[in-house]
Amino acid sequence: MTIRLRNGVKMPQIGLGVYKMTDSEETIQAITTALDVGYRAIDTASYYFNEEEVGKAIKQSKIPREDIFVTTKVWNDDQGYDETLRAFEKSLRLLDVDYIDAYLVHWPVPGKFVDTYRAIERLYEEKLVRVPGVSNHHEKHLREIEKHAHTMPFVNQIELHPYLQQKSLRSYCRENEIAVIAWAPLSRGRAFEHPIIQQLAQQYNKTPAQIILRWHLQLGNIIIPKSVTPSRIEENFNVSDFTLLEEEMDKIATLDQNDRIGANPGLENFMDHFK
Ligand code: NAD
Repeated sequence: MTIRLRNGVKMPQIGLGVYKMTDSEETIQAITTALDVGYRAIDTASYYFNEEEVGKAIKQSKIPREDIFVTTKVWNDDQGYDETLRAFEKSLRLLDVDYIDAYLVHWPVPGKFVDTYRAIERLYEEKLVRVPGVSNHHEKHLREIEKHAHTMPFVNQIELHPYLQQKSLRSYCRENEIAVIAWAPLSRGRAFEHPIIQQLAQQYNKTPAQIILRWHLQLGNIIIPKSVTPSRIEENFNVSDFTLLEEEMDKIATLDQNDRIGANPGLENFMDHFK
């Protein structure tokens, strides 16, 4: 299952997130399991310090490079035009690839994110990046980029799960043909015990994780659930053999409580979160 982006690139709708995979062997093993069960997208970042492992797992798999969609991101300390070009070279080297599928501005660092995005656009023009994008950008950041860039980002990776449904940002992205990637799609397990999720899980004979991931897919979100446990990696990928009814989607919509795990990029002082 893929999502066709504005520039025609097809991005797999399910990928493996690898944040907090710090043990080298465990990381390579998790990615290997994922590729074996059919995942064809990996979401990393320079900030996760595992780009090298991602590259190794891809090489070891013997799956052609062009069949795997690799996303990585420019961390906050590397933002700015020239800095981003240098950070890109480093990511390319660690991943041991000659292009990156999606390269994202990790956070909208004030005063820097527009130049960071412009550098990514240059990499796109040079065909070193297939999909220029951003992460954690709100409408105000996207509007700022629009003023200075040649083309709007093609993807925006945001925190998105039943407890933080981001309705207005999602609709802004839809209007501008920016595909939405949900990070922490499972809200790191927080919504698993909710009675509505539990009831749907029983009804469909699925796990709470599968109900939530299915809800995302039906909304058109791209998802990158993280797990190092083989059975969960497989479970998270097997969400295509059932469909939630519209009224069940509506029930899950009622869980929204604007509850964030990460920093709120809409606040002026959100960078304090990283101090
Ligand atoms: P997630 O919602 O994917 O939750 C992951 C956790 O849920 C796992 O550690 C595991 O404990 C549990 N889990 C996973 N599958 C399960 C299952 N089937 N049953 C029970 N428990 C299960 O949260 P996340 O890791 O924060 O987000 C996913 C990915 O999003 C990351 O790995 C990373 O790639 C990306 N991310 C991006 C940003 C950003 O700023 N752009 C921030 C955080 C995460």
